[in-house]
Amino acid sequence: MPELPEVETVRTGLAPVMEGQVIAKAHVNRPDLRWPFPERMAERLTGARVERLRRRSKYILADLDRGETLLIHLGMSGRMTVSGDPLGRFVHDHPMPEKHDHVVFDMENGARITFNDTRRFGAMDLMPTLEADRHPLLAALGPEPLGNAFNEAYFTAAVKTRRTPVKAALLDQKLVAGLGNIYVCEALYRARIAPTRRADRIGLPRLAALVPIIRDVLGEAIAAGGSSLKDYRQADGELGYFQHSFDVYGREGQPCRTPGCGGTIRRTVQSGRSSFHCPQCQR
Ligand SMILES: [Zn+2]
Repeated sequence: MPELPEVETVRTGLAPVMEGQVIAKAHVNRPDLRWPFPERMAERLTGARVERLRRRSKYILADLDRGETLLIHLGMSGRMTVSGDPLGRFVHDHPMPEKHDHVVFDMENGARITFNDTRRFGAMDLMPTLEADRHPLLAALGPEPLGNAFNEAYFTAAVKTRRTPVKAALLDQKLVAGLGNIYVCEALYRARIAPTRRADRIGLPRLAALVPIIRDVLGEAIAAGGSSLKDYRQADGELGYFQHSFDVYGREGQPCRTPGCGGTIRRTVQSGRSSFHCPQCQR
């Protein structure tokens, strides 16, 4: 499932072919994904210029010159691909459509942007730009983990009253937006905090230390995604899925990488989701 760094990588890959460009034709090939598409979505998008492509949590937001904003959510299996010529050379050369290509944007610059989603947990919606923050999917979100509002004072105050496992607190989108299972496991490993540890029982200095660690973990993954974009044109044009090595996630049974630890990474299930941690150095 794409998490914040993957979504940010998709946004970064789409920006050069979408920002400032007109959607010459929007093709909407089915009535819904996870939810029904908004009414007349194809007509409302066709002819619109994308003024800005931004991200909130795991949602991509395209602000249009018509005063509307298009929300894109990749869900579990959503993939965005770019084909054709993103440099405005008007080469209309695209691969054959595939079965799950549900929404296609033909941009005026000749690029084709395809949203493919086999499991259809993704979503698209249109809303007035001025009301975007109040959209049901966005209204309750906490601060962005890479933004200024997510700081040590905010974070420690918000977490120290939580009687839940720290992992559950970090996954709570009202506390911080966009953190998912993988990067929470990675951050807790780096902070040497066990995922099952009750949030309110962690000392304030250790809690505060999580803030820069979360930023680093996400920032490093975004940087890895950014460098993966340099050669996306050589592959199939798919954005956002990149090789990234994790320190604990997916490493069950392998040796802990903390120098001198000697522990073995263990997988447990918390709230129905896999947790990976080192029982030796995470307390
Ligand atoms: Zn360890």
